[in-house]
Amino acid sequence: MTCDRLVCANCAGPVNEARCSVCRAQRARRHRDGLSAAVTPAMLLALLVALLSVALAAREMAL
Ligand SMILES: [Zn+2]
Repeated sequence: MTCDRLVCANCAGPVNEARCSVCRAQRARRHRDGLSAAVTPAMLLALLVALLSVALAAREMAL
């Protein structure tokens, strides 16, 4: 996370220091973005399992 490089438009301080409510809101939003990024590998894994089951079903039909 490059959160510390952001400068707040409200208090002109680093968002990382959370000097005002705008800073805190921006920081909270960044944390949420990080969480959604962590969900993505799990979704990819689910997609892989779905593709694998389809491939196995297709192979059983071919036999
Ligand atoms: Zn601020």
